[in-house]
Amino acid sequence: MAGKRIWSSIRWKIVFIYILLVFIATSMIGVFIMSQLEAYYNDSISSNLRKTVAETTILTSIASYGDLSAHRDEIQTGLDAWARTLQNEIFVVDGHWEIIAATNEYKGQSAHGVLEETLIFKILNGEYDEYGEYDAIYSRDGEDIPTKSVAFPITDDTGETEGVLYFRTDMTEIQKTINEAKLIFVRAMAPALFITVILGFLIARSITVPINDVTKKAERMARGDFSQEVSVKSDDEIGRLAEMFNLLRIELDRTVSEISSEKSKLEAILKNMADGLIAVDLSGHIIHANPAAREMLKFGENDIENKHYDRIIEKYTENLSLKTVIRNCTNGAAMDTFIYGGATYTVRYDRFQDENGADIGIIMLLQDVTEQQKLENMQTDFVANVSHELKTPLTTIKSYTETLLLDGLESDRNTAMEFLKIVDAEADRMNRLVKDLLQLSRLDYKQEKWYKKEGNLILLLSAAVKKMEMMARSKEQHLNVLFDEDAHIQVDMDRDRIEQVVLNVLSNAIKYTNEKGRIDIDAYKAGRNARIIVGDNGIGIPENQISRVFERFFRVDKARSRSAGGTGLGLAISRQIIEEHKGFIEIESKEKKGTRVTITLPLAPHRGRQNIE
Ligand code: ADP
Repeated sequence: MAGKRIWSSIRWKIVFIYILLVFIATSMIGVFIMSQLEAYYNDSISSNLRKTVAETTILTSIASYGDLSAHRDEIQTGLDAWARTLQNEIFVVDGHWEIIAATNEYKGQSAHGVLEETLIFKILNGEYDEYGEYDAIYSRDGEDIPTKSVAFPITDDTGETEGVLYFRTDMTEIQKTINEAKLIFVRAMAPALFITVILGFLIARSITVPINDVTKKAERMARGDFSQEVSVKSDDEIGRLAEMFNLLRIELDRTVSEISSEKSKLEAILKNMADGLIAVDLSGHIIHANPAAREMLKFGENDIENKHYDRIIEKYTENLSLKTVIRNCTNGAAMDTFIYGGATYTVRYDRFQDENGADIGIIMLLQDVTEQQKLENMQTDFVANVSHELKTPLTTIKSYTETLLLDGLESDRNTAMEFLKIVDAEADRMNRLVKDLLQLSRLDYKQEKWYKKEGNLILLLSAAVKKMEMMARSKEQHLNVLFDEDAHIQVDMDRDRIEQVVLNVLSNAIKYTNEKGRIDIDAYKAGRNARIIVGDNGIGIPENQISRVFERFFRVDKARSRSAGGTGLGLAISRQIIEEHKGFIEIESKEKKGTRVTITLPLAPHRGRQNIE
């Protein structure tokens, strides 16, 4: 494993290749030089011999004897003279392969087994015109001696080969010299290779160190750390690589941070948007569902992994199964609505594509439109209520005027007066209704003009109580003032509007309390607020309807309210007025026991602080 890692490292590959190249190059040079040296020695021996033979009379004098065997002694004498100047063994072989003269003990023997037979054979056969050569190892006294044989044909006048003049040179010394040269070469090669290893290592290091640096930093970059800078200052390819790496790092850093900031923006939008967003791939796997969607469809973040889209949606509606949804939006975006748990949801969906334009999934936008729906219903109800409320007095007026017209002037004057009173009262009611409606509309569209200034709430309350005393007295009720009429509760207010609210609450207390009932009115400061309490021991409101009394036209008992002159808009208007003053109005009630209305208004800033002290 470790070995494999070493060889897969570029450093060791370079060192190895470098050594191999140097080794091959030096070996080739060595082999070439050695073979040239050997060839040179060989050539010089044979060319020296040839030169000697050519320049001297040795060959011609032997040839001049004609019959070689007959002149053995003369030839031997000649050879002996020659042997003194030449360091070779010299043989003269006649046409019958007999060594007729020799500078050694082989004289008189057959050339077979002593001299190179092929060479002699070829020369005697006339295959060589001038000379023949042969290298061989020759064994003497059990010792191998390398030799070189050069043989010349001895020809007579007719050109016929009579015999062979044969030189044999002992090459031991030359071979020794060559071997020594080889040894010197090999010895020189070893340190050269050692230096090569060191140099190769250094060169490889100069390449691999910066590459390793780049690799390490690229690894860290892959893990998201973009603070890495490669510090290679060289001017070569490695320097360019480092420069490019640094450039890449800056670009990547910029792009990644741009992408991640875009991503976190998008995530923040998806996370915080009130509408639910679901992305589903074509196989039903949920790719994304934002918290709003998970909340609406009641599934956890972990379910995204495990649950198929159909498993989740099937609880709510059948119309939004994956198959239906895909089919419905083949021609573009589609929409559907479903109701679950009292809430109404609209779902808009469309396909989304990959960069090649192929459909990869469906994106859905879920909106909880319950409130909107309620509002729409309220609006429809409001129109119906208004029409109804206007129609009731109109019908009464119409029927009484018709009767009056029919009876004409002959009718009973008292009855006619009675009728006209009713018509008048109904017209008043219509007037009140229209006035209330106009005020509500002004409040809704923020067109009501406010004349706010600091004033004493106690004075306002005392005046309002006085105005209502008549009405209370008619029912033998007692308006019980609990607050100190000399106190000061300063509030920033539009006097007329606040008085309108107080009168409405007081008149309700009177209206919905039986005769001889008791109505308590109190006012005090509570922290930074002023509080007005109107309590009665009247008919009260059923518990399940208390929350609805601020709705427009809501009345617990329509007939009672109407006969008491109510429009059903009083509390709705009162709440808008109090809220405009940054206060709030609350109602507590127990059926058959009584009702308590609390109005809270902020104290005027300056006075308020003094009062707390
Ligand atoms: P209305 O003109 O009918 O009085 P409001 O908006 O003032 O309209 O009041 C709405 C309904 O709240 C009344 O119809 C009545 O049923 C109920 N309500 C208001 N005040 C009282 C109260 N003090 N006691 C009992 N019921 C009340």
